[in-house]
Amino acid sequence: MSIKRRTRVREALTSCEVAKEITVMGWVRTRRGSKKIAFIALNDGSTLNNIQIVADVPAFHEDLLKQVTTGACISVTGTLTQSAGSGQSVEIQAKSIKLHGPADPVTYPLQKKGHSLEFLREIAHLRPRTNTFGAILRLRHAMSYSIHKYFNDNGFYYLHTPIITGSDAEGAGEMFRVTTLDIMNPPKTEDGRINYREDFFGKETNLTVSGQLEGEIGALALSDVYTFGPTFRAENSNTPRHLAEFWMIEPEMAFYDIHDNMDLAEDFLKYLINYALEHCVEDLRFLNDMYDKELLSRLNSVTDSDFVRITYTEAIDILNSSGMKFEFPTQWGADLQSEHERYLVEKHYKNPVIITGYPKAIKAFYMKQNDDGTTVRAMDVLFPRIGEIVGGSQREENLQALENRIKEIGIPREELWWYLDTRRFGSAPHSGFGLGFERMMLFITGMSNIRDVIPFPRTPNHAEF
Ligand code: ATP
Ligand code: MN
Repeated sequence: MSIKRRTRVREALTSCEVAKEITVMGWVRTRRGSKKIAFIALNDGSTLNNIQIVADVPAFHEDLLKQVTTGACISVTGTLTQSAGSGQSVEIQAKSIKLHGPADPVTYPLQKKGHSLEFLREIAHLRPRTNTFGAILRLRHAMSYSIHKYFNDNGFYYLHTPIITGSDAEGAGEMFRVTTLDIMNPPKTEDGRINYREDFFGKETNLTVSGQLEGEIGALALSDVYTFGPTFRAENSNTPRHLAEFWMIEPEMAFYDIHDNMDLAEDFLKYLINYALEHCVEDLRFLNDMYDKELLSRLNSVTDSDFVRITYTEAIDILNSSGMKFEFPTQWGADLQSEHERYLVEKHYKNPVIITGYPKAIKAFYMKQNDDGTTVRAMDVLFPRIGEIVGGSQREENLQALENRIKEIGIPREELWWYLDTRRFGSAPHSGFGLGFERMMLFITGMSNIRDVIPFPRTPNHAEF
């Protein structure tokens, strides 16, 4: 490597090698001091904490120090010394300072402390330099890593499913079209419709809403697989829990029934929370103190709890006898809304809840039907503050039953010929679920808006940055 070796702030702060000369690089958070001495708080994103740089003002060019202002990027070489100030163990006595990039104090937007999250969304290109987003982005990384670690340690294979899909059969929401046709002047068929045969793929294509159908192909060959990739939904739902582009983790397991599926989901979610508690406690403590005073206790309580398991029918009975006035109806057959889910979790059980046995009419075609003929082996995991965090099911492995359901719903069968082949040749019972990564990040960080747990949120009317 040709770049000059630097010490990360994280390493410098935990180093015991006092009197050693080191070089740190980063962005100035604050500068204070007098005509004689300057104290610079420097952060390089490696940790929540800043390292204090102490500079003898007369030893430096006036022009240089003038530009060492909030937001500027500098290199500092100096000796690591025991700090006299409280709140830090070591600091750096600066010997030389190099300015990489100044930041005009008049126009740099992150001057004062305590910007609102709404304001920070408008400067999503700069918000990673705040304590809050530094913590969230480090946690996002740690969670991604722990997801791969969990599955790898448990013998799952990471399967890369396509982002561009030729089937719109998943039925999980509105899709974004992928096309290279000239939208001002598209080729037409004889009956006046757009001729997708002339499009790039020779057919209609969209961005995927889920990797599940391909995940099932993986499971019926490698037994235990998972996907972890971006998914896209053009649903115009401007809520604090929906994004148009979000990341989803979808394990799919051969020889799992719905109970095995629930066991895996519960174990997996607890593992991820424990991983964050063990490896990211500094960032979690910061978020706990700044945004959500119950964050740490909530995380601990979920890892200590046994998730409640009830059927949809039981859930409806509880809601109907709750005496609550809900905005949406709670009669049997209606989908559960977030207000219902949160009532069950936060008020009734005070525990995460897994609901199974949903009416088949409100769930996807591939879910395995129960013997009652009206419900399916679906499972939704509901979390405090979030509502639905996981959606999954045991899949229908019987070819005839699956074909009947496809016909019943009116899905074009030709499009699914490859999917149906998995049931035609060596079919096996199997199950899987999808965890919305940003819903998990909402839970882990205690943030209340999903736009604040992804670096570059995509929502209706927002695709800046
Ligand atoms: P919801 O009812 O909350 O819209 P869904 O039933 O559409 O969710 P699924 O199709 O089961 O969700 O997707 C699996 C998981 O993906 C959900 O449990 C949730 O964690 C996440 N998810 C779904 N839609 C979104 C979205 N628009 N933005 C972020 N995460 C999402
Ligand atoms: Mn949805």
